Amino acid sequence: MEDIKAYHPSHPEHQLVLRSFNKPYDCDGCRERGFGSRYRCESNDCDYVLHESCMFNSQTATHDFYPDSTFKFSYKPRSCGTWCNACENNINGFVYYCEDKDLDLHPCCLNLKNKMVIDGTKFKLTEKKRKSKGKSTGGWSYESKCNKYQFHVHRITEMIYESWKIGNCKDENSSLSLKNPELRLRRSSDRGSSRGGKYWKVAKIFLTAVVAILLGDPTVVLTTTLFNLIT
Ligand SMILES: [Zn+2]
Ligand SMILES: [Zn+2]
Ligand SMILES: [Zn+2]
Ligand SMILES: [Zn+2]
Repeated sequence: MEDIKAYHPSHPEHQLVLRSFNKPYDCDGCRERGFGSRYRCESNDCDYVLHESCMFNSQTATHDFYPDSTFKFSYKPRSCGTWCNACENNINGFVYYCEDKDLDLHPCCLNLKNKMVIDGTKFKLTEKKRKSKGKSTGGWSYESKCNKYQFHVHRITEMIYESWKIGNCKDENSSLSLKNPELRLRRSSDRGSSRGGKYWKVAKIFLTAVVAILLGDPTVVLTTTLFNLIT
């Protein structure tokens, strides 16, 4: 099969090639973590690598959660200390921003869906209100219509970060194993008492899907890899 290659204006000297490895990387565009498929420079000693959504950024974008906003793409955040309205983490590279509404999103966070349906359970994004770091609102969380589930996107990014540290990045496969996922889930969403297998099944599929989007791997590779690891 022919390699899929293209240039990106942020790296005009070499073409980037689509590759997929079960191994984490740091995107040179948005400076966030990635896993699975990525666009990589294969010239000697050049490790330039981009998420697929950073590779194919559009000049403007919209998100269903903010129907009144149009986002512009930029290589750099508006100011230092800019944080993402979805995951609440700092933005250190590629960004979509809306000046009017004072909103900033990582390119991967922009891909999070406003609504998701997992095995019949309906999830919808909500935003918690807060006043800090200069913005009046921020921090997405997913809530299920049945009220049994609530997941902070920020908490999910912390979970990814912790699993990275546990895995130490030495063993490719353990680097993404979310050890003790049920414990972690309980901490982030403790409501109700008796929870059967169906509860955890939906939670795991949901989390796997969200993690895949956050790490820029919309393919089935990560989804199945991760799902096996946390099952
Ligand atoms: Zn990126
Ligand atoms: Zn290069
Ligand atoms: Zn984000
Ligand atoms: Zn949080």
